[in-house]
Amino acid sequence: MPVAAQNELNVYESAEARFEIAAERLGLEQGLYHYMKYPEREITVYIPVAFDNGHVEIFTGYRVLHSSVRGPGKGGVRFAPDVSINEVRALAAWMTWKCAVVNIPFGGAKGGVICDPDKLSKAELERLTRRYTAQLADWFGPERDVPAPDIGTNEQTMAWIMDTYAMHVRQATTAVVTGKPLDLGGSQGRREATGRGLMLCCNKAVAQLRMKRENCRVIVQGFGNVGYHASLLLHEAGYKIIGVADIHGGLYNEKGHDIGKLYDWVYAQHKPLPEFPGGGEKVSSQEILFRPCDILVPAATENQITAQNAHRVDCRILCEGANGPTTSHADQVIEQKGIFVIPDILGNAGGVTVSYFEWVQDRQGFFWRESEVNERLQDVMERSFDQVVEYAEVHGVNNRIAAYIVAIDRVARALKLRGFYA
Ligand code: NAD
Repeated sequence: MPVAAQNELNVYESAEARFEIAAERLGLEQGLYHYMKYPEREITVYIPVAFDNGHVEIFTGYRVLHSSVRGPGKGGVRFAPDVSINEVRALAAWMTWKCAVVNIPFGGAKGGVICDPDKLSKAELERLTRRYTAQLADWFGPERDVPAPDIGTNEQTMAWIMDTYAMHVRQATTAVVTGKPLDLGGSQGRREATGRGLMLCCNKAVAQLRMKRENCRVIVQGFGNVGYHASLLLHEAGYKIIGVADIHGGLYNEKGHDIGKLYDWVYAQHKPLPEFPGGGEKVSSQEILFRPCDILVPAATENQITAQNAHRVDCRILCEGANGPTTSHADQVIEQKGIFVIPDILGNAGGVTVSYFEWVQDRQGFFWRESEVNERLQDVMERSFDQVVEYAEVHGVNNRIAAYIVAIDRVARALKLRGFYA
């Protein structure tokens, strides 16, 4: 791979490039700039795990706290074979900006463990999760740093983190993680929240561009928590989902997919998505991104739209479900094509918003109805969308840079008030 292309795929550089542009537009003072550019702390842990057969292996895990200026660190834990400190660092910074864009009182953090969860038994995963948590127990806490699920982790992982933490601090502490099962203090609507936030942003963008929802053809890459719920909710809202894909490949069908049946095929019958009978034309996981559509929702992983392929994207609205699906090198190409971008730190912020609601409910010990959660989420997403788009229009920047500026400005104001403790 050429050197330029390699750098392009370094997500931390992508995150930094946008920060630099936004900081310059904002005229950020030198001290504030440096404070926000670097994470507050990065921890590496080496996690011994006994396999079911008695063999012991050491796994590497990370937790990065990018900022606690506006509140406790908040961010998911990723279990994947290719997690790196660079990736976790970028994701932690994005969490800071994301929480600030939607104006919730959290900072940004992220964690990861280099492992392949598909190759570990449930018992091995539990031991790995508990030991990772035990090694970070002093840094986690409802007022310190609050993990959540991400790629390769789920509600069960959060339950193990919560229990391990509770055993260490010797008290039930449900608010130490979000994305928990409902029976353990989880929130109604959390599972669907990221997809719902994406759907709400699409509704706003479609109205703004005077498009008709029923004429909108949508392609979604990724059929996990984010991709599946986004597809389902968009389908239910009247959009036509003509393309879906997961890691095994994609299906393109101009007539539209039945998302409920596809879910059953993949998750109840455990069959490969591209083999869904009568599902349409098989295309690769990446090629699906380049089929013509009105709304493209990359909701799988980072670095999917790059300087090398951005010219092939053929949509009116790019609504980013994944974190960092578009590299900073691709931004310009997408802008030149006149594509309306709903950037990741805005589009997928529904998840962390309902995580915030979950944290609030846990701390109150008082739980809300699903309709209440969804109404409050709609409020937050629509207000945040309006603020970003208005900023972009008034200041002549693209939506992504506008989102960064809104976020960085909020963190900067909080930081100025707090001052630099020495
Ligand atoms: P997940 O593990 O539930 O699902 C990931 C999906 O993407 C799976 O269907 C997988 O098969 C597919 N996939 C992986 N690599 C792919 C590839 N190269 N091409 C096509 N498909 C691929 O994860 P998730 O929770 O849905 O997260 C997806 C993305 O959204 C990540 O970037 C994550 O950081 C981001 N995100 C998640 C949440 C959340 O609430 N879960 C919130 C905000 C952002």
